[in-house]
Amino acid sequence: MFSLASGACRHLIVFDLEWNQSSYNPNHRMPHEIIEIGACRVDRDFQVVDTFSRVIRPRLYKRLDKHIKKVTGITEEELSIGGEFSDVFADFIAWCGEDAQLITWGRDDFPVLKRNAAFFQCPMPFEPPLDAQLVFGGVCLGSCHQQMNLHAALEHQGIEIEVPAHRAVYDAQCTAAMLPAIDSAIAALEEDRRAQLDATIAREKRIAASVLKSMPTRHTYQTEALADEGLMNIACPSCGRRTAFDTPWFDSGREKYMAIAHCPAHGFAYGQMHFKRASSGLLIMHQRVYSACEEEVADVRERYRLYLITPPRKRHHRLNMEEAVRKNRQE
Ligand SMILES: [Zn+2]
Repeated sequence: MFSLASGACRHLIVFDLEWNQSSYNPNHRMPHEIIEIGACRVDRDFQVVDTFSRVIRPRLYKRLDKHIKKVTGITEEELSIGGEFSDVFADFIAWCGEDAQLITWGRDDFPVLKRNAAFFQCPMPFEPPLDAQLVFGGVCLGSCHQQMNLHAALEHQGIEIEVPAHRAVYDAQCTAAMLPAIDSAIAALEEDRRAQLDATIAREKRIAASVLKSMPTRHTYQTEALADEGLMNIACPSCGRRTAFDTPWFDSGREKYMAIAHCPAHGFAYGQMHFKRASSGLLIMHQRVYSACEEEVADVRERYRLYLITPPRKRHHRLNMEEAVRKNRQE
């Protein structure tokens, strides 16, 4: 059964990131560029025993987003004397030590860290972290879907902690201050609720290990994009090799597509996809793929079955991948 301090010799590392972006000219390979890594190491009693705090000099987005500047108090001058991402990240990995269990507040930081590591071609030794916000929602607010921001959660628990600003290392310390309350709430759970929590955490870890792909397409219409077999191909999230479709991409409503693919070596993968329009008029494709469990495979197959027996006029959206490909071949 899950507990925060389980696992005999693991260090608990609570970390937080600040990142910058450009709304005018985003690079799709790295839409969010990390400008600060902050973390603290906590012992078995959740006391902070060490901290890590480093600023990173941005390569892509050198102008600091106004909102980020205001919330964090970070300045462009401060960034200009920061370290290179690859150096700071290597120092962070070394500081964490082997066998570290990472903890974050919320599910956003890890995918951003993965993408930055990939962009700068750095090794990524970490497994997905434990999302303390999710566990807090599940055990203290009654549902894992309750997403409370960190400062509201501290207030909810009556925890007062003085931090000078919304900077990564301070947010990590605030998250660490939540851990004793979360841990005792977990210990007090009934057995069936605890089993539910285990299942939710396992699912979140699969999602956190997702492969994300955002790329501009050469298409104007979703129908054209769906008929583009190279673009629609799903790479296995475990080995990166080409998969076969079990259930082709179809619109599950409101132009959010889903699919199930199969890798002979790693089993089923669950794909989610939507499109956004760039200012040029072309579509940008956003895809998320992660390894699927049996229930997810059965669920998507059932949705697709229902989709196919719904008359096209009554469908929320017109096309699925198979129809788009067929139509494209006829033309
Ligand atoms: Zn595979």
